[in-house]
Amino acid sequence: MRVLVTGGAGYVGSVSVEALVAAGHEVVVLDDLSRGHRAAVVDGARLVEGSYGDAPLLRAVLAATPVDAVLHCAARSLVGESVENPALYYRENVGGGVTLLEGLREAGVRRLVFSSTAAVYGEPTSLPIREDAALAPINPYGETKRSFEGALRWYAGAYGLRSVSLRYFNVAGASERNGEVHDPETHLIPNVLRAVLGLRALTVFGTDYATPDGTCIRDYIHVEDLARAHLLALDATAPDDPRTSGPDGAASALALNLGNGGGFSVREVLAAAELATGAAIPHGIGPRRPGDPPVLVADAARAREVLGWRPERPDLAEIVASAWAWQQDHPAGYPD
Ligand code: UDP
Repeated sequence: MRVLVTGGAGYVGSVSVEALVAAGHEVVVLDDLSRGHRAAVVDGARLVEGSYGDAPLLRAVLAATPVDAVLHCAARSLVGESVENPALYYRENVGGGVTLLEGLREAGVRRLVFSSTAAVYGEPTSLPIREDAALAPINPYGETKRSFEGALRWYAGAYGLRSVSLRYFNVAGASERNGEVHDPETHLIPNVLRAVLGLRALTVFGTDYATPDGTCIRDYIHVEDLARAHLLALDATAPDDPRTSGPDGAASALALNLGNGGGFSVREVLAAAELATGAAIPHGIGPRRPGDPPVLVADAARAREVLGWRPERPDLAEIVASAWAWQQDHPAGYPD
């Protein structure tokens, strides 16, 4: 199948492109390289430099290279930035997202897999979090992801768009080729590894949570396990597939959590990093980071049932070790 991947030069996108190419699919990456990296796009995929929110460009790309399905990974994705500059998040994640949907509608593309997030749930009222939990995001990032999920539901009924929204929990680790580089980097595991390399100071945000060791618990999932789920989700958008069909057989939108279903505390991540690197992790203790819920853990049973997906690398030590291997190979990130 021929697949358009928006954000295919980013972290999750580039590893998903690797998986698509390895499975024999033809891939066109659409990425404006504002946060993605040219070098992250594996040989065998074609990179078009530009934005999914650029209607004329999208029209030209889809006319020149008709695609069967879209993997929509591109988005603004920093919680703090979204609070400071919600306009940017609404303009790109929602406005740009609708431009993408309109381009697909015009081109007759009716299959889409969307990178959503656990941030759509906000502060969970029960754990582990199931897909039918209330969607109550507490920042513009989560809100704009929820808005796009909503658009997918309405586009299904009105225009026959089949979609799967994948609600990622804490994506971590690296493939041999691609790893995590954000600027600024806010995520725990890359920050821990950079602290080992002496590239930055690490602060543990809060040790007074109501958790066994006082630090926050998160559900870390290996980026390659996540990538495999995208391929399975694309299959589920095939015409007439019952997984994206309503009771009347018409197209519908599905949402699935992607996590390991188990949680690790910040201190457990530091211990895993000590094992992986063989070094003590230099760190300080700081106050809680605003907006961090104490525990976020997925109930990922639905993804297992519906997609037949299983995390193959749920082990935290292995996740951190893969990130460490990549970090050592790329101490300065990507060449560009
Ligand atoms: N965290 C931390 N120090 C850092 C980055 C993160 O203590 O430099 C903590 C953060 O407070 C949270 C957990 O690590 O409890 C995971 O944070 P991350 O930003 O990786 O993911 P999030 O769960 O916020 O999406």
